[in-house]
Amino acid sequence: MTSAAVETERPTVELRIGSERLTSGSGGVYQHIDPTTGRPDADVPLAGPDEVDRAVQVAHAAYLEWRRTKPADRRRMLMRLADLIEDHAADFGRLAAMDNGTPVGTTSAMTPTAAEWTRYYAGWADKISSEVTASLRADGEFSYTLAQPWGVIGAIITWNGPLISLAMKVPAALAAGNTVVIKPSELTPFTAGNFLDLAAQAGIPDGVINAVTGGPEAGQALVEHPLVKKISFTGGPVTARKILRSCADLIKPAVMELGGKSGNIVFADADLDNACGVGTMFSVGALSGQGCALPTRMIVERSVYDEVIERVRAITGFLKVGNPFEDDTVSGPVVNKQALERITGMIDRAKNSGARLITGGERIGGDLADGFFLQPTVFADVDPSSELAQNEVFGPVLSIIPFDTDDQAIEIANSTPYGLSGYIFTTNLRRAHRVAEELETGEVLINGAANLGVTRPFGGIGISGMGKEGGRQGLEEFLRIKTVSMV
Ligand code: NAD
Repeated sequence: MTSAAVETERPTVELRIGSERLTSGSGGVYQHIDPTTGRPDADVPLAGPDEVDRAVQVAHAAYLEWRRTKPADRRRMLMRLADLIEDHAADFGRLAAMDNGTPVGTTSAMTPTAAEWTRYYAGWADKISSEVTASLRADGEFSYTLAQPWGVIGAIITWNGPLISLAMKVPAALAAGNTVVIKPSELTPFTAGNFLDLAAQAGIPDGVINAVTGGPEAGQALVEHPLVKKISFTGGPVTARKILRSCADLIKPAVMELGGKSGNIVFADADLDNACGVGTMFSVGALSGQGCALPTRMIVERSVYDEVIERVRAITGFLKVGNPFEDDTVSGPVVNKQALERITGMIDRAKNSGARLITGGERIGGDLADGFFLQPTVFADVDPSSELAQNEVFGPVLSIIPFDTDDQAIEIANSTPYGLSGYIFTTNLRRAHRVAEELETGEVLINGAANLGVTRPFGGIGISGMGKEGGRQGLEEFLRIKTVSMV
């Protein structure tokens, strides 16, 4: 394959501990595979418990200064970082294409969102206030709260959106006066280095943000470190359970941003151009289906069911799957061989269990045969209780399910153990709000409202997790309340 993916040089991955940059770690070496070509393209140094300990010690020392840094100075530095992120959108695009095969066009579109998350939390840095809970005038007692940083935050992120995951955690933590040790996924080692370089350029002192790329061993060491006062985790429920078990022993708080199996209810009165465009693009197109909050179950009113299936099939046919370095590519490969095999396994079982394959269902051959490329895949007549409808695929696979009444649609949407996002398409305002109230999810997006608006708290319920990122609540996750009282 004559792709730019092969020609583009990979940056050296370093562990970043304060001002130190290490090209080797006690956790060994991970051989990164380019998902576009299936070929090894970088040796990634992995942090072990030693480097994690050093990073946490450095972050703790930095915290003692950073928490006393004037809030307005923190705001200025984070504002500069936001501008720098925006200015470097093209770099982040290339890095994400190398990391996990995300098309450059997708990252270019998402980088302003990452900059906006940074800018939003920069704005909070000098607006954190406390409240007087009892005044002397009332009953002789004067009491007030202090919203204070926790200290060192352990930020463990996954591989599907390395830049946006950083932007959803780090600026809020820093605005509140914490410092962070990030553990990027070993699968996506390239983006974090650029983020840290820009943070340094923005004037954020060494040690305030540290990055120890590594695997489970490094993640566990971070969770268990006594100087790490809170964990902010993005990943899957299996890892979340392990982390929460450790946190239980240590009585350590944690925010858990986990997966989803979000229902997208399409009523017959919906604008079907909009419903089918959004519902297809964001299930089998964008990120090759590798997004936590994507609308992966399309629950369609029976009177428009056949029409919707035909529209989805047609839109799927226009999605360009291919080299992520090409500007017009919509979908790149999935992240690695294991993911490819897991997804094709689920597709094969769905084919054999009665779901009707509408389009796709195979690995892509030809020029793309060496990479981990899958056809955008759509199934109709999916049993709401089947494996495909109940489990996160994390790949380009959409399930379409019919319904007859509003209550039935709600019941199907709520029938998984997940509860991250809910989607509704209808032109009936009253119905939209009634159904939104009934959905057991952390958010509801109506008629194509976009994901990841920074002013909105984002985060799921059930096995989609706990805690919030975004909005004031996202800031409050990084603050602890102390009460002061005197008589
Ligand atoms: P994962 O849970 O396997 O890994 C996530 C991170 O945890 C990685 O950095 C990994 O190295 C680390 N890790 C692994 N074992 C660990 C341990 N024992 N202790 C500490 N850290 C450990 O992630 P995955 O399942 O490959 O990621 C995909 C999942 O992430 C999907 O479920 C997806 O929906 C979810 N996700 C959620 C959001 C959100 O904001 N809600 C965003 C993106 C992805």
